[in-house]
Amino acid sequence: MKISDILQKKKTLSFEIYPPKKDSKDIDQIFKTIDRLALLKPDFMSVTYGALGNNTKNTVEIASYIKNKANIEALAHLTGGPSSFLDIDNILNLLNENKLDNILALRGDKPLDSNIEYLKYFNHASDLLTYIKNKDYDFCLAGACYPEGHNECNSLYEDLLNLKIKQDMGASFFITQIFFDNDYFYRLLREARKMGITIPIIPGIMPLVNSKQILNTIKMTGCSIPLSLRTMIERFQNDKEAMRQIGINYSITQIIDLLANDVDGIHLYVMNNAVVAEEIINGISHVLAKVMQ
Ligand code: FAD
Repeated sequence: MKISDILQKKKTLSFEIYPPKKDSKDIDQIFKTIDRLALLKPDFMSVTYGALGNNTKNTVEIASYIKNKANIEALAHLTGGPSSFLDIDNILNLLNENKLDNILALRGDKPLDSNIEYLKYFNHASDLLTYIKNKDYDFCLAGACYPEGHNECNSLYEDLLNLKIKQDMGASFFITQIFFDNDYFYRLLREARKMGITIPIIPGIMPLVNSKQILNTIKMTGCSIPLSLRTMIERFQNDKEAMRQIGINYSITQIIDLLANDVDGIHLYVMNNAVVAEEIINGISHVLAKVMQ
């Protein structure tokens, strides 16, 4: 089923997972995680592609498990940046064979080493969207967006002009980069709507449950950490359990505020941690029941 069709009827709850780095034992582990996450009844689960140094081949296999074994709708991420037309054709074919209907079309992060050839065929996610739209498939396409602006853009305005291109090229909803200050999301929404971006924009929330993850997240996404959260982290960073509680409770507060402001859905970057997802969803079960029909 197309996620765009679900979004026409209701707000969505979704989880993002990433493929394991290498061998098949890890794949079995991720299948177990998916089975647990499925019990929380998300509307869809998304699977990253080649992010965090992971194996790109596993994305389709895992998305297929989500859809065909766990019976939850799947959203497969796909990055154009490092790929050739043939690479993309092969993946599209595989997705189609596995009855996967939804693709999050991305450019991918440029490698830090500028000698590595990266953008051979797809300079931007909009090029990938156009390429897929012109093929003989009927995928539901989504794109990424950035509440604090993408780090290669000079302003949020410039970034939103480019976001509009993604809508024009066939994206039917957006999922945001993580953020820890909801005001960035509300500003994005307000400015995007002014610029004629009309499709659903789903906020992406990540529970920061340990100190290492915090450092990696800031490095990879460039998102800012509000003073209140920074103070909590600095005070409790050496206490594992306290950090877990802070991460979970901070996410819960963010999500309740977003739902009270009538957002299109909630996308939880669960980082393959089903226990954290369970604690968050159980912690907002009444709020979810009230708004997610
Ligand atoms: P683009 O939309 O191409 O944007 C990149 C930059 O180019 C922006 O500054 C934008 O303003 C500008 N731009 C866009 N279109 C145009 C245009 N037509 N003309 C001129 N400028 C333009 N990375 C992975 O490797 N794998 C993943 O699975 C993955 N999943 C992600 C999921 C989400 C929800 C998000 C938010 C990010 C994800 N990323 C992933 C990271 C993403 O690949 C990087 O943020 C990357 O730097 C930008 O990707 P994009 O698709 O937003 O690129």
